[in-house]
Order: sequence, then C-alpha cells, then structure tokens
Amino acid sequence: MVRPVCDGEANVAEPVLSLAEKLARERRARLAAERLLEQKKRELFAANAQLSRHARALSDQIVQQRHEAESLKGQNVQVMHDLERATSEAEVAQRRLWEAIETIEDGFAVFDADARLVSANQAYLGLFGAARVRLGDSYYRALEALSGGIADLEGEEALDWRHEMTARLTRDVIEPKVIRLCDGRHIRFHDRRGEAGDLVSMALDITEAMEREAELEEARARAEAANRAKSAFLANMSHEIRTPMNGVVGMAELLCETALTEDQRLFAETIRSSGEALLVIINDVLDYSKLEAEKMRLYPEPFDLERCLHEVMLLLQPRAREKGLKLIVDFDIFLPTRFVADPGRMRQILTNLIGNAVKFTATGHVLARVVGLELAGGEYELHVTVEDTGIGIAPEQIEHIFGEFNQVEDQSNRKFEGTGLGLAITRQLVGLMGGAVWVDSEPGQGSCFGFKLVLAPAERTGTGAGPDRPVLLRKALVVDDIHINRVILQRQLETYGLSVTSCRNAAEAVAALASAGPFDVILTDHAMPETDGPATVAALRSAGATAPILLLSSEPDAVGDRPAGIAAVLPKPILRSQLLRVLQDLSYPRPEVPPQAPPAAPPDQAQARPMRVLAAEDNRTNQLVFRKMVAECDMELQFANNGREAVEQWQSFRPDLVFMDISMPEMDGREAARAIRAEEAARGLPRVPIVALTAHAMEGDRVSILQAGIDHYLTKPLKKAEIVARIAAFCPPGARPPGPAAAREAAPG
Ligand code: ADP
Repeated sequence: MVRPVCDGEANVAEPVLSLAEKLARERRARLAAERLLEQKKRELFAANAQLSRHARALSDQIVQQRHEAESLKGQNVQVMHDLERATSEAEVAQRRLWEAIETIEDGFAVFDADARLVSANQAYLGLFGAARVRLGDSYYRALEALSGGIADLEGEEALDWRHEMTARLTRDVIEPKVIRLCDGRHIRFHDRRGEAGDLVSMALDITEAMEREAELEEARARAEAANRAKSAFLANMSHEIRTPMNGVVGMAELLCETALTEDQRLFAETIRSSGEALLVIINDVLDYSKLEAEKMRLYPEPFDLERCLHEVMLLLQPRAREKGLKLIVDFDIFLPTRFVADPGRMRQILTNLIGNAVKFTATGHVLARVVGLELAGGEYELHVTVEDTGIGIAPEQIEHIFGEFNQVEDQSNRKFEGTGLGLAITRQLVGLMGGAVWVDSEPGQGSCFGFKLVLAPAERTGTGAGPDRPVLLRKALVVDDIHINRVILQRQLETYGLSVTSCRNAAEAVAALASAGPFDVILTDHAMPETDGPATVAALRSAGATAPILLLSSEPDAVGDRPAGIAAVLPKPILRSQLLRVLQDLSYPRPEVPPQAPPAAPPDQAQARPMRVLAAEDNRTNQLVFRKMVAECDMELQFANNGREAVEQWQSFRPDLVFMDISMPEMDGREAARAIRAEEAARGLPRVPIVALTAHAMEGDRVSILQAGIDHYLTKPLKKAEIVARIAAFCPPGARPPGPAAAREAAPG
C-alpha cells in the first residue's frame, strides 16, 4: 500500500523515493525550466523587436536630423554670403556717398553728440585753410579757427561771435547763418540735429547768388528810378504839350470865327480838330502810364449814368451820322439813373467802347444797353453792353485786344487810327471800379463789348424820373424804320401809361391812324429811308392827324426851323427825363402868351462899372488866347504871371472873378487860392469866385483843387463858350453885364 507523503515527510522519506519519482520530478523540473526558457525567449524576442523598432526610429531621426543639419548648413552659407554682399554693397554705397560728397563744392560735415567732428569733406575742411581743423576736433575749435582771421566778424568781438554761434545750435530750429569770409566769399551754414544728437552741417558758397542778388537789386532800383522818371516825364510832357496845344486849338477856334474863305476855314477847322485829336492821344498815354504806375485814383460822386451815356452818344453822333450809323440807347426803364461812381472815368469807359464801335462799324447800328438788378444791400449790379454791326474780331485775336498796344493788325483795320490803348485803359478802369469787361464777337457780323459793375444808387427815387405831374396822354403812335428804336421808345412810353402803336414807315402810320387812331401824341423818326420825318408828318396831317407830333432826330440842329406841324424836335437818342418832360408839357398845355418885348435895360446900366476879371496864367500864348476869347466881353481884364502876382493883384485890382491856372511857377494856383481865401477870412471880405484852369493831367487832383477853396474848374484846352458863360454867370449886381455874347450863353454857375 502507498501512502500519501507530505513534504515533511519527504526528506524523511527521501531514501525511499523511487527512481520513477525522481525521474518524474526531474522531468517536471525540466518542463518547468523549458517553459521558463520559452517564456524568457518570448520576452527576449519582444524586447528585441522593441529594440529594433527603437533603433529604426533612432536611425530615421538621425537621417532626418542630418538632412536638417545639412539644410541649415546650406542656409548658413547663404546668410553668410548675403551678409558679405550686403557689407560690400554698404561699403560701395558709403564710398560713393563720400565720393559724391567730396565732389560737391559745398562743405559737408557731421559732428557727433559731443560736438566732435566725425566726418567732413575737403570743401568743409578747406574753409579753415591754414588753421587746419581735423577729424576729432570740436565744433568750438572750428569756430575758433573761423574767428581767428578767416571770417569777417564785422566788428564783433571774437568771443561774442563764438558765443552767439554756439548758442545758435541750442535752438530747436537752427536758422541758417550767412558768414562773410575775409576773402570776400559768402558762406551760408545750414545745420541740423540728427536723432542721436549728431549735428549735420552744410556750408554753401552763395557768393555768386549774393552778387547776382546785389546786381538785381541795383537793376530793380535803376528800373524803378527810370519808371518814376518816365512817369514824371510823361506827366511833364503832357503838360508841356498841352500848353502849346491850348494855344493851337484856342487860336484855331478863334480863327474859325473870323471871315474866312472856304479853303481857309477847312484849314483852320483841320488844325483845331487835329489838335483836339492829339490831346485825346496824350490823355490816353497819360492815363495809361498812371494806371500802370498804380497812381490812378477814382473820385466817386453822384451822377446821372443815363445822361452820361447820352452825352457820350451825342458827342459821337456826328461821326456816326457821317457813316449813316444809328446810335441807340436802351437804358433799363426799371433802373434808377443816378449812381455813385467817378463820372469822368465812367464817361471815358463809355467813350472808349462806343467810340470803338462807331470806328469799326461801316453800316448798321451801335446799341448801348444798360440793364441791372437790385442787390440785397440796395446796390445795383449793372451790365452795360455796347453792340455794333461792324467788322468784328477774329476768335484768335479776342483774348489779346484788352492788352496794351494791341490792335488787330491786318489790312482790314490798318486804315483805323488809334493808339491801341483804349481797351487796356477801359479794362483797368473797370477793374479799378471793381468790375469786369468782356467781349463777344463774330467776324463780319459785329462785336458786343460789355462790362459789369456794382454801383450804389445816388438817391432812392425809384426810376429817378418820378412823374411829379402825371402824363395824361393815353395813346401814342411811333414811326421808326429801326426795330430796336421802336421797341425802346414803346417801352419808355408804356412806363408813362401810354398804349403804343408802332409803325415802320409813313404808309403804315397812315393806315394805323385810320384803324387805331386818333392818338394823343405821335413820335416819328427824322431820317427814314422811304419817307423822311417831315414827309411823314405831312402825310399824317393830310390823313387827318391832329395830335402833337414829336420829331426825333440825331441831328436836331440840321432840322432847321421847326417844320410845320411839329410840336418839338427831340435829339436822338432821347433821354428818359427829357421825354417825360415833353409828355408832361403836352399833358398840361400852357396858354399862348404873345411874345414880349425884351425887358428894357436898367437906366443906369451905362453908368455901372465894368466887371473886373483877373486871369492868372504863366504862358504868354495862353494869355493871348484867353484875351482873344473874351475880346467881345465888355469888362476889365488883368493878367497875373504866377500865383504870387495873382494874390497881389487880387488885393489891388479887387476882381469880381478870378481865373486861376493851376500849374504856375513860384506859387501855383492852389497856393494862391488858399492865400486869397485866408486873407478874405482874416479881413472879413466877400468871397471872390475862383475858376481853376486845369489840364487833363490834373483831373485826379480835383479834390485838392476844390479843397484849396476853388469853386469851379475848366479843363484845357479852353473853349470860348465855356469861358464867356462863366464870366456872364459871375457878373455881380453892381457891374455891367459883360456883353451880349456872354449874356446869351450864360449858364448858371
Ligand atoms: P485803338 O482803338 O486805339 O486801336 P483799342 O484798345 O480801343 O485801341 O482797341 C484795340 C483793338 O481792338 C482795335 O485796334 C481793334 O482792332 C479792336 N477793336 C476794338 N473795338 C472793336 C470793335 N467794336 N469792333 C472791332 N474791333 C474792335
């Protein structure tokens, strides 16, 4: 029997262990060992596999890192390469920069923040010459070098100068400084602080520029002196020419009044008109030189623009008539007529534009039109246009014609005389008045010149011609061959409440009389192509017209004795106020008064003393002209040769009237007038009327003339009628009237 054996029993039982058991135990041990081995093998295998994976990863990593290292190395080489190239480029640039800086003739230097010279070109260093300023030297040392005999300190102490120069660098903005060197050169220093405190200094040699500037300054001074001399010369020359011209024109006028053959009259008239034309040219030259020297002044005063325009038209009427041109005025009926402006200059502008229009128009008409509108401030913006049907101006010429001495030069207008200054003066005058001029033109068709101005009305009276006596006429008939004339007249009449029938000729008028008559007033033009004015009047009268007829004529004097059946002859273009007055007169007819004998002369007239007239005039010829002009006057005349004599003679002669030339040697007319006024005031004497005789050149001095106590003035060349009228106007009650000629032409002072 086999008993189970426990472990405690084994050792005890070892001797009894069977071989089989020993074998089995060994086999088991071997199996266990084999299993363990197997196990370990597997573990080893797994470890190996892991190891080899690691190894492979490591090797991949190494390969990659090697790649990376290689690429980095490549990059590094590139960077190194770039760096080298950049360095070399920078070196080249720096070298070029310095070469460039060396080549410039101006000095260039850089001081560091401690004011040490770190770089400078030879031009800069050369400034210091033998004083040898070098790189590393201080700014102060450079100043010492300059102040030690190189720079001209212009009397300043060297220390002060250096102090001032260093103080200059402490300012926020360093102003350029010009230093004159003892060798005559001028150097301008431009200094600028850099961000790091560096000071960049440029030294520019401006010697040539300074010399040029000095030359220019000298040339400018010379030119100004020459211009002043020219203006003075022109003003003087104008006076000098004017004085003998006064003699020529005055004598010619007197000559025309004597008994002459037809030829002689033609010669004398030519002398007079040529003289007057010459004076116009002198005035142009004088005005132009004044405008150019900005010496022209305006003297605004209230005046009647419409009247001014009509006066210009009337003045140009004879020339227009010679050519058969119609002069037409269209003054906006809703505008006032009185404005504040310089009337003399306004007349000059209008004369220039209308004069040109007449000059450059062979057939047709010249129409001056004034329209305008009231601005918020009560002033008026006026547009004045002068339209003609003349030769016109080519487009390429248009922009030049307002320039001085510019005439449209071709065969077509070489036949026109003129200075070429008129439009230049016009443009400048209008500009001076704050306005602008313009022109539209069509060659062969005509031109339209215009200007725009803002003017204050002189007084607020509506249309200026307010009907104080209302017009009672209701129906008017207008006969005129020119359409624009009919339109203007119709508009004017309509503002006075009339209804108007317009006709082109006598036949139409007669027909209108039958169909639309009767009329309260008939207005007919004088010069019409088919049936003229008087014939039209006759036709109308025989067709039964009973209304008063007004004849409008551009040549009222030539109409002769008033043709039968005509109530009044009115000058063309007609002034609104004049038309109104005639319509008013026709509305309130005066009873016919039998013609009266002229009042008998006062019985003591023959005994009354003659009027005493003193004329101060230094020029002998003008004295003679004056004497001849007043020869018909019954009066005592004395001449004074200058202002001083005038004052003396005023005291001894006690004149009733003094004519006073303004430009006279020793004492001029103004001074003499002042002296007379002062004496009168001091001695309580009555005020003697003084009439100045001025040249055109003096027109601008009107204020100073009037301020000197002068009452009136006449412009040379003197006109007999004007002088005689003045004398008659100032004849005092106790004196004999100076003469029939004067009395006839007397005008109120
Ligand atoms: P002037 O008349 O003395 O020659 P202006 O300055 O008045 O000088 O005019 C300059 C030029 O402009 C004239 O010469 C003329 O050629 C041209 N011109 C002026 N006005 C007219 C006009 N109404 N029609 C045609 N041409 C004109």
